[in-house]
Amino acid sequence: CGIVAYLGAAEAYPKLIKGLKRLEYRGYDSAGVALHNGDLLVYKKKGKVSELEKHAEGNPLFATMGIGHTRWATHGEPNDVNAHPHLSSNGRLALVHNGIIENYDLLKTALQKEGHVFQSDTDTEVLVNLIQAVQDRDELPLEEAVRLALTRVVGAYAIVVLDKTEPDKLVAARKASPLVLGLGDKEFFLASDATPIIEHTNRVIYLNDEEIAVVHRDGHYDIKSINNEKQTPFIHELDMK
Ligand code: GLU
Repeated sequence: CGIVAYLGAAEAYPKLIKGLKRLEYRGYDSAGVALHNGDLLVYKKKGKVSELEKHAEGNPLFATMGIGHTRWATHGEPNDVNAHPHLSSNGRLALVHNGIIENYDLLKTALQKEGHVFQSDTDTEVLVNLIQAVQDRDELPLEEAVRLALTRVVGAYAIVVLDKTEPDKLVAARKASPLVLGLGDKEFFLASDATPIIEHTNRVIYLNDEEIAVVHRDGHYDIKSINNEKQTPFIHELDMK
C-alpha cells in the first residue's frame, strides 16, 4: 500500500522508517525494508512500523540505499513471510510492490517449471522472480531486465527494485498505482505520494503509467517508457510552505 525508497550519501534506514510512518494514514497490515550494504539485509514484520523497528533493532542497519513498504494484503494472508520486500529465489534482487499482478498464476507455474522456488503466497514474489528469469537468460542492466519483465505483466504496479550486484542504482516503475520521484542533492527518494519526500526536497517527478525510472548514486537519472522510448520528465516544484 505504501512505498518509500532512498539512494544517496546519508543513512537510508532512518529515512525509510520515517517515510513509512508518514504513509501510515493509507492503512496497512505489515511493513518491511531491504537495505543494500554489499549484501541485502531484509527485515519485515506483520503489524505496525513500530513492530518492524523492534524486530530490526540490534541487527545491522547501516546502508545508503534501501527500499521500504507497508503492505495491504491482496494475495496471501497478512504475515511476516508475505510482507514485502520480496527477494528473487537466487537472493540477488529485492522488490517492493503496490498493486496486483493479475496474471501471476500463469507466470508462477512457468517460473516454478524453470526452477524458481517461492516462499510466499504473494503475486509480488512472482514479479521479482520474473525479473530474475530475464537476468538468468541474458546479463542485462537491471532497468532493462525490469522493463522486459514488465512487458509480460498484466495488472497494476508501483515497484522499486534493488540488485545486490548493482550498489549504485535503484529502478522504479509504475502502472495504475502512484509513484513519485524526489530529486535531492545527489540523493533520490521514491514514494507512493509526496508526504515522505517533502521534508527532503520540493523537486518531484510524478511518474506516468508504464514509465521506468533509474536513479544513480552519482546524481543522474533517466526515465523511459516500457516500450524503451526516452521520456522528458516534468519537474514539479512543490510548495514547502
Ligand atoms: N498484491 C501485493 C500483496 O498482496 C501488494 C499489496 C499492496 O499494494 O500493499 O502483497
